[in-house]
Amino acid sequence: MMTTSTDVLAARAGELDAADPLRAYRDLFIGADDPSVPAYFDGNSLGRPTKASAERITAFVTQSWGGRLIRGWDEEWYDLPITIGDTLARVSLGAAAGQTTIGDSTTVLLYKLARGGLALRPGRTEIVVDRDNFPTDRYVLESVAGELGLTLRWIESDTRGGVTVDDLQSVVSEHTALVVLSHVAYRSGYLVDAAGAARVVHEAGGLLLLDLCHSVGSVPLELDAWEVDLAVGCTYKYLNGGPGSPAFAYVRADHQQDFVQPIWGWMGRDDPFAMAQGYEPAPGIRRVISGTPSVLGMIALQDTLALLDDVGMDAVRAKSIALTEYALDLVREVLIPLGVEIGSPEDSAERGGHVIIDHPRFEAVVQRLWTKGVIPDFRAPQGLRLGLSPLSTSFGEVCTGILAIRDELAD
Ligand SMILES: *Cc1c(COP(=O)(O)O)cnc(C)c1O
Repeated sequence: MMTTSTDVLAARAGELDAADPLRAYRDLFIGADDPSVPAYFDGNSLGRPTKASAERITAFVTQSWGGRLIRGWDEEWYDLPITIGDTLARVSLGAAAGQTTIGDSTTVLLYKLARGGLALRPGRTEIVVDRDNFPTDRYVLESVAGELGLTLRWIESDTRGGVTVDDLQSVVSEHTALVVLSHVAYRSGYLVDAAGAARVVHEAGGLLLLDLCHSVGSVPLELDAWEVDLAVGCTYKYLNGGPGSPAFAYVRADHQQDFVQPIWGWMGRDDPFAMAQGYEPAPGIRRVISGTPSVLGMIALQDTLALLDDVGMDAVRAKSIALTEYALDLVREVLIPLGVEIGSPEDSAERGGHVIIDHPRFEAVVQRLWTKGVIPDFRAPQGLRLGLSPLSTSFGEVCTGILAIRDELAD
């Protein structure tokens, strides 16, 4: 096979960038043109900050916090988890208002929603989850199962794919209380058929809890239409909320009246400032809140929500698919001949916003790439994950990064 020269490959990437309708959005991010980071492939782990967030955070400190002081709680902050939650729901979840709140971490919200969901299915004894789910999901469910004396029913899914509707069909039963799936698998990038999954789980009488960490802001979601019962996700990945920015929880409106989560705090109580005896959950989604929400942590993600609102999730998905298709084409052209294998679905309809490739030398290769500012993720045992954030990643960056991987492997 004739090898294409680096110049020709770079020119091809340049043409794709010139034709990209979203190319101007990249300039709205801090560091996108930093020459010391020629390729950032971890926007699905820690998204880049927007320039607007630098201003919004400064204004928050000087004017809102510094100027309004404790009056800020009454004037704005107390409602912020719900108002930002509603915006997030409208822009990126396909969910009507009043079902989403921001707070805690994904891990903590997963615990709260799993417990709350299980309490809606008394007498059922099983929680279904897959072996390749994200570690925190597996650990939280192990803890919940231990606490309540329930059985975890594991799905042994294909690590290069993910949980299919057929897999689910073969494990759910009249014992199933709750099924927990990552909508986009953190390793393979497999995109679950959420509507199909909800149908199978509901036919068995159980509830579906989706983890949206790797889908929100990258893949269009229709939680209401798909009839998802519960969902959690983080805001520091594709939503660029910053390191440790709080997570979000979705509780379908039909379930809210009877929904009780286990961490009873004053901020989730009906009329917290009455300081009354006994816990009475607040009406609606507010009951998911426990303590004082991280207002400072919610500032930056609002800028990415504004961008997503402007662009629309369909255009974001179109760019995301173009980026992953391009990355896989380039992998086939320059890395497969060096012994690399593709660990993600090759059909874009079954894939989220990242791809993973495998090679026995990738652990060492990723360490060397990081020193050169080419930043993918290593995922044991031998995966190199390319997270392609649709608003901040260019085709040129994908080309530069994959050629850097080639050069390391050829070395
Ligand atoms: C990133 C990620 C998490 C992170 O949970 P934290 O509580 O924010 O640390 C959870 N689940 C999935 C699927 C993830 O990808």
